[in-house]
Formats: sequence, C-alpha cells, structure tokens
Amino acid sequence: MPESFDVVIVGGAVIGSAAAFFLAEAAPKLRVLVLEADPSYAQCATTRSLASIRHQFSTPENVRMSMFGTAFLRRAGERLAVEGVEPVIGFVEAGYLFLSTEAGWPTLQRNHAVQRAEGAEVALFDAAALAQRFPWLATDDLAGGSLGLAGEGWLDAHGLMHGFLRKARALRVEVRTGCVTALLRSGRRLQGVRLGSGDEIACGTVINAAGLGAAALARTCAIELPVQARKRCVFHFRSPEAAPRCPLVIDPGGMYFRPEGQGFLCGIAPAEEEDPECTDFDVPEDWFEQRLWPLLARRVPGFEAARLLSSWAGHYDVNVLDHNVILGPHPDIDNLLFANGFSGHGLQQSPAVGRALMELVLHGGYRSLDLAAFGWERVLENRPLRELNVV
Ligand SMILES: Cc1cc2nc3c(=O)[nH]c(=O)nc-3n(C[C@H](O)[C@H](O)[C@H](O)COP(=O)(O)OP(=O)(O)OC[C@H]3O[C@@H](n4cnc5c(N)ncnc54)[C@H](O)[C@@H]3O)c2cc1C
Repeated sequence: MPESFDVVIVGGAVIGSAAAFFLAEAAPKLRVLVLEADPSYAQCATTRSLASIRHQFSTPENVRMSMFGTAFLRRAGERLAVEGVEPVIGFVEAGYLFLSTEAGWPTLQRNHAVQRAEGAEVALFDAAALAQRFPWLATDDLAGGSLGLAGEGWLDAHGLMHGFLRKARALRVEVRTGCVTALLRSGRRLQGVRLGSGDEIACGTVINAAGLGAAALARTCAIELPVQARKRCVFHFRSPEAAPRCPLVIDPGGMYFRPEGQGFLCGIAPAEEEDPECTDFDVPEDWFEQRLWPLLARRVPGFEAARLLSSWAGHYDVNVLDHNVILGPHPDIDNLLFANGFSGHGLQQSPAVGRALMELVLHGGYRSLDLAAFGWERVLENRPLRELNVV
C-alpha cells in the first residue's frame, strides 16, 4: 500500500504554503503534505516578485481578494507566530499611484468607480493636486492619477511565504522535497501522485500550486491549462535625489517604480510582440539605459542621475485567456484543484486564494469570498474575465 494523505499540495511557494496554512488552521486533523521540487525557492515567481499589493484592479473579485490580503497582512505577524515568534512581513502601506493622460482618464475613472464600490480607499487627483502632493513628479502631460490612500504597498515576499510554511509545519503539515512527475488519474478521480523517485503517494485531493510547472503537471492527467511563462525584469537603482512619500508609481506607458531600502525598484512590461513564452533568466543589457532611464528621468527629473545597482529576471505565470487566476476544480476531475495563471498578481492574492482552497477542500464550495468567476468554466467556454489593470 502506498503512503496516503488527505490532501497533497504540489508546489510549496506562496500559494501552496498559504493553502497548507489555511487547511491546517481550519482542520487540525487533516493530513496535509506539501511537495516542493526546489526547497531553495531560487527561481520561483514568489522569490523574484516585486512583492507589492494594490486594490486598484478593474475586476471586482480582484479588488476583494487584495482587500482581504491587506487585512491579513496587517495581522499576519500574530496569526503566523510560532511559539510567540512572529515572521517578518515588512508590510509598507505607501500606496499605488496610477498616472493617466487625457486619453486614459475615462478608463481610470471607470476603474475607480469599481474600486470605490468595493470599499477601496482610493482617490482621484488632477494634475495640479498631484504636483502639490508630490513636488518631485513631472505632471505637465497628465490629466491626473489614482492614488491608494490605505491598504496598498509592498512587503517581504519570502517573509510571507516562510511565515505560512513555518506555521503550517507547526500545525503538523508535512513539507517534503520532491518533484511530482505525474498526477495518477482514473476516470473522474486522481488516485495520487508519482514522484521523480518513482514513489507514489495516494491522496483524497490534489492542489496544483506548481506555478510555472502547473501546465506540465496538468498535462500528465490530460488537462490543457492555458498558462505560459513570460519573462519580467526588475531593476534596482539609486538616485541622489529623494522622492519623499513615494508610492508605487505606474506611468501611463506601463513603466513603474517604487522605493526599496535606500534606492528604488523599477521595470516595464514588454510590448506583446516582444513577449513570447520564455523561461530564461537573461536580463537584456541595454534595457535600463535605453528604455527605462529616459522614462524615469521624464517622470521624475531628479532621477536624471539614477545609477543602476542590480537587476534580475523572473516569470509571470500568464493565463493567456484573460490574465486572471484559474481557481478550483476542472469539470472533468472531482478531486483536483487548480490555483494557477496569476499573471503577476499572485503574491497579494495568496491569503485569499489559500483560504478559498481551504473552503473548496473542506466544504466543496466558497464560504467567504465567492470566487466562482475565476473557475474553469470561463476558460472552457472561451469567455475571458479580462483584467484591465495588468502591471
Ligand atoms: C518580476 C515579478 C514581479 C511580480 N510582482 C508581483 C507583485 O508586485 N505583486 C504580486 O501580487 N505578485 C507579483 N508577481 C507574481 C507573483 O510573484 C506570483 O503570482 C506568485 O508568487 C505565484 O506563486 P506560486 O506559489 O503560484 O508560484 P511560484 O512562486 O512560481 O512557485 C511554484 C512552486 O512550485 C514548485 N513546483 C513546480 N513544479 C513542481 C512539481 N512538478 N513538483 C513539485 N514542485 C513543483 C516550484 O519549484 C515552485 O517553488 C510578480 C512576479 C514576477 C516574476
């Protein structure tokens, strides 16, 4: 007889560890196993993330998930403490600022109405009000911007992931190193998983939290998951000029920057035609000088003397249908739950998704936030639930 667990979670980064924590907290007797292929977490999206959280989405469910994320982060220290020792989450509530020209203003206003209807603390500022609040910002080409007044900001991604994992372990979740090479399917059910070692583990439910490995894993039980790896590069620079009270600023063309320690992080989403499926970690050499620096110096004249310190590349797990997570069971298999295709906003959604997965396992449906809109049905029926605010 193979070893057996109630729930096997494949992938132990922020989504897998969040699911493990919520399951263990809600159902102490449940036998939960997390299988992680790379315990260094060196290349996963969680490690390479910009680690920021915003309420400024165009999809109401995304706003709700991030608002729960904020509420969780504000008390994560207490909730994830083990024997009185709290994890270091480093949550900085400095806001997001989406800037807009006249052309983008009606869209910003529409998104603003969605966010306000959900209770998000966001405010629209015209260009003059922005210039007054942030004197270091060039506003001559802008109609205005949308600023998060509370609840948005950034955090330590590793602090959150390890906080989830450490607490899950303390609540008796087993976390093992192992690469799952196949999901063992028999008709409408998975019987278990096979590891690279050849060992098999039986289980009641499998959660696919394998990030960029999710599509290959799904294929082993004949499910096509429309999730692809898309490279995103982040640059760390120092500027002799300060930018007091700087939020995470998103320029109309998609360039972004935010403070990090004594310096700043920045990046830009590539245009669609130069954004193929890609798994290398090469950072294009000239991107900072040629592409980012002119935009930075245009928006913040004090950044003229910016000096690049370091850079890295990571990958979004992009849901090519609509840039939103695919969450929950596939209609053809009863005991396999998906949480994939986060398309660049999975870190902030990890508390809401971890809790949602717990509810699906224990209750067979959502009990708090109704996230059915993110289910497989829209994918199979080719009905995109398109998120407009993708950074
Ligand atoms: C540059 C960049 C910036 C980002 N910025 C933000 C941001 O500001 N805010 C935000 O919310 N999100 C951001 N994201 C997205 C966010 O980081 C991801 O959505 C989130 O970390 C996804 O977590 P995950 O656990 O699903 O996947 P991952 O972190 O990719 O982890 C998947 C894990 O599964 C393991 N695995 C894979 N296959 C197998 C297998 N077969 N068997 C066992 N284990 C397996 C991997 O080793 C890995 O550890 C960013 C991402 C990048 C790359």
